Amino acid sequence: MYNLESVVQRLDEQRYRITPSRLAVVTAVLHRRGHFSVDDILSQVPRVGRATVFRTIKLLSEMGILCRVLLEDGSLRYRVSHRQDHHHHLVCVSCASVQELDACIAPDVLGDLARTTGYEIEGHWLEFFGRCAACRNSAA
Ligand SMILES: [Zn+2]
Ligand SMILES: [Zn+2]
Ligand SMILES: [Zn+2]
Repeated sequence: MYNLESVVQRLDEQRYRITPSRLAVVTAVLHRRGHFSVDDILSQVPRVGRATVFRTIKLLSEMGILCRVLLEDGSLRYRVSHRQDHHHHLVCVSCASVQELDACIAPDVLGDLARTTGYEIEGHWLEFFGRCAACRNSAA
């Protein structure tokens, strides 16, 4: 997992200025459990402008520190990533917990798609929705 120091160090290595506003956003993000929206962070750092919050979250996503999670209703959330490389999520529609899958599960599909369509596939986004084991057990 990430701590403030390691994130600041990586921002510094990539020559991003560490402003007090940016630091406040990074701190707020790292304290979140589960997924969150830009608005969630905005309400945590009311003195920081929306554009700065948005840009910092985007930057952290590009650095692989945050990943984007698409919920079943189509809304986009962010969460602190446990994996830096491409991965997929299992999203529980009952308790909203998110589990990250260890590896891309689609390489064979991608190969087939490229062969049959002539496309050069550059990316994909695949999330799974359902009820997690804990929710299934409590419903039983
Ligand atoms: Zn993730
Ligand atoms: Zn659940
Ligand atoms: Zn994948």
